[in-house]
Amino acid sequence: MTAVRIDGKALALKIRAEVAEDVRAFGEPVCLATILVGDDPASHVYVGSKHKASHEAGIDSRDHRFPADTPESDILDLVADLNADDAVDGILVQLPLPGHMDEPAVLRSVDPAKDVDGFHILNAGRLYLGEPFLVPATPLGIMAMLAEYGVELKGKEAVVIGRSEIVGKPMAMLLLAEHATVTICHSRTVDLATHTRRADILVAAVGRAGLVTPEMVKPGATVVDVAMNRTDAGLVGDVDPAVFEVAGLMTPVPGGVGPMTIAMLLRNTLTAAQHRRSGVAVPGS
Ligand code: NAP
Repeated sequence: MTAVRIDGKALALKIRAEVAEDVRAFGEPVCLATILVGDDPASHVYVGSKHKASHEAGIDSRDHRFPADTPESDILDLVADLNADDAVDGILVQLPLPGHMDEPAVLRSVDPAKDVDGFHILNAGRLYLGEPFLVPATPLGIMAMLAEYGVELKGKEAVVIGRSEIVGKPMAMLLLAEHATVTICHSRTVDLATHTRRADILVAAVGRAGLVTPEMVKPGATVVDVAMNRTDAGLVGDVDPAVFEVAGLMTPVPGGVGPMTIAMLLRNTLTAAQHRRSGVAVPGS
Protein backbone atom coordinates (compact mmCIF):
# COMPACT_ATOMS: atom_id res chain seq x y z
CA MET A 1 0.00 0.00 0.00
CA THR A 2 1.24 3.49 -0.76
CA ALA A 3 -0.20 6.40 1.16
CA VAL A 4 -2.24 9.09 -0.52
CA ARG A 5 -0.19 12.29 -0.48
CA ILE A 6 -1.90 15.17 1.28
CA ASP A 7 -1.33 18.04 -1.10
CA GLY A 8 -0.80 21.01 1.20
CA LYS A 9 0.38 23.15 -1.67
CA ALA A 10 -2.87 22.79 -3.62
CA LEU A 11 -5.07 23.28 -0.57
CA ALA A 12 -3.04 26.32 0.50
CA LEU A 13 -3.55 27.90 -2.93
CA LYS A 14 -7.28 27.30 -2.63
CA ILE A 15 -7.41 28.88 0.85
CA ARG A 16 -5.29 31.81 -0.29
CA ALA A 17 -7.71 32.44 -3.17
CA GLU A 18 -10.63 32.30 -0.71
CA VAL A 19 -8.90 34.76 1.62
CA ALA A 20 -8.21 37.11 -1.33
CA GLU A 21 -11.90 36.97 -2.22
CA ASP A 22 -12.89 37.65 1.41
CA VAL A 23 -10.42 40.55 1.64
CA ARG A 24 -12.06 42.08 -1.46
CA ALA A 25 -15.50 41.56 0.04
CA PHE A 26 -14.37 43.11 3.35
CA GLY A 27 -13.77 46.29 1.38
CA GLU A 28 -11.32 47.95 3.80
CA PRO A 29 -7.51 47.83 3.76
CA VAL A 30 -6.05 44.94 5.76
CA CYS A 31 -2.47 45.23 6.97
CA LEU A 32 0.05 42.77 8.41
CA ALA A 33 3.25 44.03 10.09
CA THR A 34 6.19 41.69 10.57
CA ILE A 35 9.21 42.09 12.83
CA LEU A 36 12.39 40.16 12.13
CA VAL A 37 15.50 40.47 14.29
CA GLY A 38 18.82 38.98 13.23
CA ASP A 39 20.24 37.36 10.14
CA ASP A 40 18.94 33.79 10.24
CA PRO A 41 18.64 33.01 6.50
CA ALA A 42 15.62 30.71 6.93
CA SER A 43 13.74 33.41 8.87
CA HIS A 44 14.42 35.93 6.11
CA VAL A 45 13.05 33.46 3.54
CA TYR A 46 9.92 32.77 5.65
CA VAL A 47 9.22 36.47 6.19
CA GLY A 48 9.75 37.19 2.50
CA SER A 49 7.22 34.46 1.62
CA LYS A 50 4.70 35.88 4.08
CA HIS A 51 4.93 39.32 2.47
CA LYS A 52 4.61 37.92 -1.03
CA ALA A 53 1.57 35.85 -0.03
CA SER A 54 0.02 38.86 1.73
CA HIS A 55 0.31 41.02 -1.37
CA GLU A 56 -1.17 38.28 -3.54
CA ALA A 57 -4.16 38.14 -1.19
CA GLY A 58 -4.63 41.92 -1.30
CA ILE A 59 -3.27 42.35 2.24
CA ASP A 60 -0.87 45.29 2.76
CA SER A 61 2.25 44.54 4.70
CA ARG A 62 4.99 46.32 6.59
CA ASP A 63 8.39 44.73 6.88
CA HIS A 64 10.47 45.69 9.95
CA ARG A 65 13.94 44.09 10.02
CA PHE A 66 16.63 44.71 12.64
CA PRO A 67 20.22 43.59 13.23
CA ALA A 68 20.81 40.81 15.77
CA ASP A 69 22.24 43.14 18.43
CA THR A 70 19.15 45.38 18.55
CA PRO A 71 18.13 46.10 22.17
CA GLU A 72 14.91 44.41 23.27
CA SER A 73 13.51 47.81 24.26
CA ASP A 74 13.59 48.91 20.58
CA ILE A 75 11.42 45.93 19.63
CA LEU A 76 9.02 46.54 22.52
CA ASP A 77 8.74 50.20 21.46
CA LEU A 78 7.95 49.17 17.88
CA VAL A 79 5.35 46.65 19.05
CA ALA A 80 3.74 49.37 21.17
CA ASP A 81 3.58 51.67 18.13
CA LEU A 82 2.07 48.93 15.96
CA ASN A 83 -0.43 48.05 18.69
CA ALA A 84 -1.55 51.68 18.74
CA ASP A 85 -1.62 52.06 14.94
CA ASP A 86 -5.19 51.73 13.77
CA ALA A 87 -4.06 50.84 10.24
CA VAL A 88 -2.28 47.69 11.43
CA ASP A 89 -4.45 44.59 11.84
CA GLY A 90 -1.88 41.88 12.45
CA ILE A 91 1.56 41.82 14.11
CA LEU A 92 3.91 38.90 13.61
CA VAL A 93 7.21 38.59 15.48
CA GLN A 94 9.32 36.07 13.56
CA LEU A 95 10.89 33.47 15.86
CA PRO A 96 13.47 32.74 17.05
CA LEU A 97 14.51 36.06 18.54
CA PRO A 98 18.18 36.51 19.44
CA GLY A 99 19.26 34.99 22.76
CA HIS A 100 19.47 38.30 24.65
CA MET A 101 15.73 38.85 24.23
CA ASP A 102 13.00 37.55 26.51
CA GLU A 103 10.91 35.87 23.81
CA PRO A 104 7.76 35.26 25.92
CA ALA A 105 7.84 38.89 27.09
CA VAL A 106 8.04 40.18 23.51
CA LEU A 107 5.20 37.88 22.42
CA ARG A 108 3.08 39.03 25.37
CA SER A 109 3.61 42.66 24.35
CA VAL A 110 1.59 42.14 21.14
CA ASP A 111 -2.04 43.23 21.39
CA PRO A 112 -3.99 39.92 21.55
CA ALA A 113 -6.44 41.35 19.00
CA LYS A 114 -3.53 41.68 16.51
CA ASP A 115 -1.71 38.49 17.51
CA VAL A 116 -2.04 36.69 14.18
CA ASP A 117 0.42 33.98 15.25
CA GLY A 118 -1.80 33.13 18.23
CA PHE A 119 1.21 33.02 20.57
CA HIS A 120 -0.03 35.57 23.10
CA ILE A 121 -0.86 34.10 26.48
CA LEU A 122 -4.48 35.23 26.10
CA ASN A 123 -4.96 33.48 22.76
CA ALA A 124 -3.17 30.37 24.06
CA GLY A 125 -5.47 30.41 27.10
CA ARG A 126 -8.57 30.85 24.98
CA LEU A 127 -7.60 27.80 22.93
CA TYR A 128 -7.00 25.81 26.11
CA LEU A 129 -10.43 26.84 27.43
CA GLY A 130 -12.15 25.78 24.21
CA GLU A 131 -12.92 29.36 23.12
CA PRO A 132 -10.35 29.88 20.36
CA PHE A 133 -9.85 33.29 18.76
CA LEU A 134 -6.50 33.54 16.93
CA VAL A 135 -4.94 30.06 16.75
CA PRO A 136 -1.32 29.30 15.72
CA ALA A 137 -1.25 28.96 11.95
CA THR A 138 0.65 25.67 11.64
CA PRO A 139 -1.72 23.49 13.68
CA LEU A 140 -4.69 25.37 12.23
CA GLY A 141 -3.44 24.48 8.75
CA ILE A 142 -3.06 20.84 9.75
CA MET A 143 -6.67 20.76 10.96
CA ALA A 144 -7.76 22.22 7.62
CA MET A 145 -5.84 19.49 5.77
CA LEU A 146 -7.36 16.73 7.91
CA ALA A 147 -10.83 18.15 7.26
CA GLU A 148 -10.20 18.47 3.51
CA TYR A 149 -9.15 14.81 3.30
CA GLY A 150 -12.07 13.64 5.43
CA VAL A 151 -9.95 12.26 8.27
CA GLU A 152 -12.21 11.12 11.09
CA LEU A 153 -10.96 12.40 14.47
CA LYS A 154 -13.74 11.62 16.92
CA GLY A 155 -12.74 8.74 19.17
CA LYS A 156 -9.49 8.16 17.24
CA GLU A 157 -6.04 7.85 18.76
CA ALA A 158 -3.98 10.93 17.93
CA VAL A 159 -0.31 11.11 18.87
CA VAL A 160 1.59 14.39 18.66
CA ILE A 161 5.38 14.24 18.90
CA GLY A 162 6.59 17.59 20.20
CA ARG A 163 5.21 19.90 22.88
CA SER A 164 6.26 23.37 21.71
CA GLU A 165 3.95 26.34 22.23
CA ILE A 166 3.81 26.97 18.49
CA VAL A 167 3.06 23.49 17.19
CA GLY A 168 2.79 20.54 19.60
CA LYS A 169 0.61 21.97 22.36
CA PRO A 170 -1.89 23.87 20.19
CA MET A 171 -2.04 20.86 17.85
CA ALA A 172 -2.99 18.62 20.77
CA MET A 173 -5.66 21.10 21.91
CA LEU A 174 -7.23 21.27 18.45
CA LEU A 175 -7.32 17.48 18.12
CA LEU A 176 -8.81 17.19 21.61
CA ALA A 177 -11.50 19.71 20.68
CA GLU A 178 -12.47 17.37 17.85
CA HIS A 179 -12.78 14.50 20.36
CA ALA A 180 -9.63 12.58 19.47
CA THR A 181 -7.89 10.73 22.29
CA VAL A 182 -4.63 12.65 22.39
CA THR A 183 -1.16 11.64 23.55
CA ILE A 184 1.66 14.18 23.56
CA CYS A 185 5.20 12.78 23.28
CA HIS A 186 8.46 14.66 23.83
CA SER A 187 12.16 14.20 24.39
CA ARG A 188 11.67 12.39 27.73
CA THR A 189 9.02 10.01 26.43
CA VAL A 190 10.07 6.44 27.12
CA ASP A 191 9.70 4.10 24.15
CA LEU A 192 8.26 6.52 21.61
CA ALA A 193 7.32 3.71 19.21
CA THR A 194 4.85 2.18 21.71
CA HIS A 195 2.87 5.39 21.49
CA THR A 196 3.23 6.10 17.79
CA ARG A 197 2.18 2.56 16.78
CA ARG A 198 -1.21 3.19 18.41
CA ALA A 199 -1.82 6.36 16.44
CA ASP A 200 -4.59 6.65 13.88
CA ILE A 201 -3.33 10.20 13.40
CA LEU A 202 0.36 10.83 13.96
CA VAL A 203 1.77 14.37 13.95
CA ALA A 204 5.55 14.71 14.06
CA ALA A 205 6.83 18.16 15.09
CA VAL A 206 10.34 17.63 16.39
CA GLY A 207 13.03 18.72 13.95
CA ARG A 208 14.94 15.44 13.64
CA ALA A 209 15.27 13.91 10.19
CA GLY A 210 14.29 10.24 10.07
CA LEU A 211 12.91 10.11 13.62
CA VAL A 212 9.74 8.30 12.55
CA THR A 213 10.45 5.02 10.76
CA PRO A 214 7.99 2.60 9.11
CA GLU A 215 7.98 0.19 12.11
CA MET A 216 6.70 3.05 14.29
CA VAL A 217 3.56 3.62 12.23
CA LYS A 218 0.23 1.80 12.30
CA PRO A 219 -0.72 0.58 8.82
CA GLY A 220 -3.23 2.95 7.25
CA ALA A 221 -2.57 5.79 9.71
CA THR A 222 -2.67 9.45 8.75
CA VAL A 223 0.82 10.88 9.16
CA VAL A 224 1.48 14.62 9.29
CA ASP A 225 5.10 15.69 9.08
CA VAL A 226 5.53 19.24 10.36
CA ALA A 227 9.29 19.39 10.48
CA MET A 228 11.55 21.30 8.13
CA ASN A 229 15.06 19.93 8.50
CA ARG A 230 17.69 21.39 6.23
CA THR A 231 20.09 18.62 5.25
CA ASP A 232 22.67 18.07 2.52
CA ALA A 233 19.90 16.22 0.67
CA GLY A 234 17.66 19.31 0.88
CA LEU A 235 14.59 20.01 2.99
CA VAL A 236 13.30 16.88 4.79
CA GLY A 237 10.81 16.17 7.55
CA ASP A 238 10.93 14.01 10.69
CA VAL A 239 9.29 11.10 8.91
CA ASP A 240 11.30 8.62 6.86
CA PRO A 241 9.84 8.72 3.31
CA ALA A 242 9.56 4.90 3.52
CA VAL A 243 6.55 5.52 5.81
CA PHE A 244 4.62 6.30 2.61
CA GLU A 245 4.51 2.51 2.14
CA VAL A 246 2.74 2.00 5.50
CA ALA A 247 0.54 5.06 6.05
CA GLY A 248 -2.89 5.63 4.52
CA LEU A 249 -2.50 9.39 4.12
CA MET A 250 0.66 11.39 4.53
CA THR A 251 1.98 14.90 4.05
CA PRO A 252 5.14 15.33 1.97
CA VAL A 253 8.02 17.64 2.89
CA PRO A 254 8.15 20.05 1.15
CA GLY A 255 4.63 20.71 -0.12
CA GLY A 256 2.68 19.59 2.94
CA VAL A 257 2.33 21.59 6.14
CA GLY A 258 4.62 24.51 5.16
CA PRO A 259 2.37 26.14 2.53
CA MET A 260 -0.66 25.72 4.81
CA THR A 261 0.99 27.75 7.56
CA ILE A 262 1.21 30.81 5.32
CA ALA A 263 -2.37 30.38 4.08
CA MET A 264 -3.67 30.25 7.66
CA LEU A 265 -1.60 33.28 8.64
CA LEU A 266 -3.43 35.24 5.93
CA ARG A 267 -6.75 33.90 7.18
CA ASN A 268 -5.83 34.93 10.75
CA THR A 269 -4.88 38.42 9.57
CA LEU A 270 -8.26 38.89 7.94
CA THR A 271 -10.02 37.45 11.02
CA ALA A 272 -8.12 39.94 13.22
CA ALA A 273 -9.09 42.83 10.91
CA GLN A 274 -12.75 41.82 10.81
CA HIS A 275 -12.91 41.38 14.55
CA ARG A 276 -11.08 44.59 15.47
CA ARG A 277 -13.08 46.74 13.04
CA SER A 278 -16.27 45.34 14.54
CA GLY A 279 -15.30 47.25 17.68
CA VAL A 280 -15.77 44.26 19.98
CA ALA A 281 -12.90 43.67 22.42
CA VAL A 282 -11.28 40.24 22.50
CA PRO A 283 -13.08 38.60 25.43
CA GLY A 284 -10.67 38.25 28.35
CA SER A 285 -8.40 41.12 27.27
P1 NAP B 1 10.84 22.85 19.15
O1 NAP B 1 10.30 24.04 19.88
O2 NAP B 1 12.30 22.64 19.08
O3 NAP B 1 10.15 21.57 19.79
C1 NAP B 1 10.55 20.28 19.44
C2 NAP B 1 9.84 19.29 20.30
O4 NAP B 1 10.32 18.00 19.96
C3 NAP B 1 10.07 19.47 21.79
O5 NAP B 1 8.85 19.37 22.48
C4 NAP B 1 11.01 18.32 22.16
O6 NAP B 1 10.80 17.79 23.46
C5 NAP B 1 10.60 17.27 21.15
N1 NAP B 1 11.67 16.30 20.92
C6 NAP B 1 12.99 16.53 20.72
N2 NAP B 1 13.65 15.36 20.51
C7 NAP B 1 12.73 14.40 20.59
C8 NAP B 1 12.79 13.00 20.48
N3 NAP B 1 13.93 12.36 20.23
N4 NAP B 1 11.66 12.28 20.63
C9 NAP B 1 10.48 12.89 20.87
N5 NAP B 1 10.35 14.23 20.98
C10 NAP B 1 11.47 14.97 20.85
O7 NAP B 1 10.33 22.84 17.66
P2 NAP B 1 8.99 23.45 16.99
O8 NAP B 1 9.12 24.90 16.90
O9 NAP B 1 7.78 22.85 17.58
O10 NAP B 1 9.17 22.88 15.52
C11 NAP B 1 9.24 21.49 15.27
C12 NAP B 1 9.60 21.26 13.82
O11 NAP B 1 8.55 21.79 13.02
C13 NAP B 1 10.86 21.98 13.35
O12 NAP B 1 11.49 21.18 12.36
C14 NAP B 1 10.35 23.24 12.71
O13 NAP B 1 11.22 23.72 11.71
C15 NAP B 1 9.07 22.74 12.11
N6 NAP B 1 8.05 23.77 11.93
C16 NAP B 1 7.46 23.79 10.72
C17 NAP B 1 6.48 24.71 10.47
C18 NAP B 1 5.82 24.70 9.14
O14 NAP B 1 5.16 25.66 8.80
N7 NAP B 1 5.96 23.62 8.38
C19 NAP B 1 6.09 25.61 11.46
C20 NAP B 1 6.69 25.55 12.70
C21 NAP B 1 7.68 24.60 12.94
P3 NAP B 1 11.11 18.62 24.81
O15 NAP B 1 9.94 19.55 24.96
O16 NAP B 1 11.17 17.59 25.85
O17 NAP B 1 12.40 19.35 24.56
